[in-house]
Amino acid sequence: MKKIRLGRTDLMVTKTSFGALPIQRVDFDYAKLLLRKAYEGGMNYFDTARMYSDSEEKIGYSLADVRDKIIISTKTHAKDPKGIEDHLHTSLTNMKTDHIDIYQLHLAKQVYRPGEEDGLYDAMVKAKEQGKIGYIGLTAHSVDVALGAARSGLYDTVQFPLNHLSSPKDLSLIEEAKKNDVGIIAMKGLSGGLITNASLSFAFLRQFDNVVPIWGIQWEHELDEFLELEKNPPELDEKMKAAIQKDQEELSGEFCRSCGYCLPCPADIDIPQAARMMFLLRRMPWQVYITPEWKAKMEKIRDCINCGACKSRCPYGLNTPELLKKNLEDYEQFYAEHAHLVEK
Ligand code: SF4
Ligand code: SF4
Repeated sequence: MKKIRLGRTDLMVTKTSFGALPIQRVDFDYAKLLLRKAYEGGMNYFDTARMYSDSEEKIGYSLADVRDKIIISTKTHAKDPKGIEDHLHTSLTNMKTDHIDIYQLHLAKQVYRPGEEDGLYDAMVKAKEQGKIGYIGLTAHSVDVALGAARSGLYDTVQFPLNHLSSPKDLSLIEEAKKNDVGIIAMKGLSGGLITNASLSFAFLRQFDNVVPIWGIQWEHELDEFLELEKNPPELDEKMKAAIQKDQEELSGEFCRSCGYCLPCPADIDIPQAARMMFLLRRMPWQVYITPEWKAKMEKIRDCINCGACKSRCPYGLNTPELLKKNLEDYEQFYAEHAHLVEK
């Protein structure tokens, strides 16, 4: 399997790597089946986070015996040095290891620096000096934070959502990171399920030799698809470029990436699904969403109390309440026009 050097870390990671967020939704044995198959299929890099419930434990359960042959990154969302120390201890225990190759500050709202009052960056340095972590990374959904981290000289890796739908500013991170020899870990390669043709994103991200996509994998058929793409990488030819352009036209502008950072919602609205319902109806088999259950879920949007919490948390700056209302309006119209076509 093709490997790339992940910026100045000198870690040689497989160009096709494993994002372990979705394995928190399957049981331990199924997670092991996936992780072992990925490893045996050649993948050597696995990314997880303290925030992903039992994902770290599943990595420990499945890959502890090959720990010295793989590269592991995890993340801490702690807000103070003691929290980082505790998270790191838990992560090491969960993954049955004495060190994390890349330890990342999760969903950073700013570029944390040495000597600051919060003490987060200093705590990372301390962990590195203790040999508990190899390299310091940061993950962000804000491109300004990601660019700032790449330019700062403080971070070995930056993790950021990237795919062929990314804006030119988002994509400028790749060049900026290259100039500073920072490795880019690309999350959301399929944009939270909106990109239905994985080969497009795969071919697009393959052009960049300092970017490693970590594909979120929950099911064996998804893993098989990425292993197959790695064996026979699609070329970014004219046909592929035309398909990418079509995706960009359909999905351009402001859209919900389904990241879930706006949750919880006091009105219990399933924002990550409801805010992109019209995309889902257009791009997935729409019959799945024309059901009484989905109708009831969408109608919950009317319970919105306009607290603004979702809007203030959305890293993409979306006006989430407005987006929800628009989706409800369009969904109800679509429902009225299509419900009679769904087999009972
Ligand atoms: S503004 Fe509405 S949708 Fe957003 S968190 Fe508040 S209640 Fe939920
Ligand atoms: S509204 Fe924003 S924060 Fe919420 S899921 Fe969508 S992109 Fe993420």
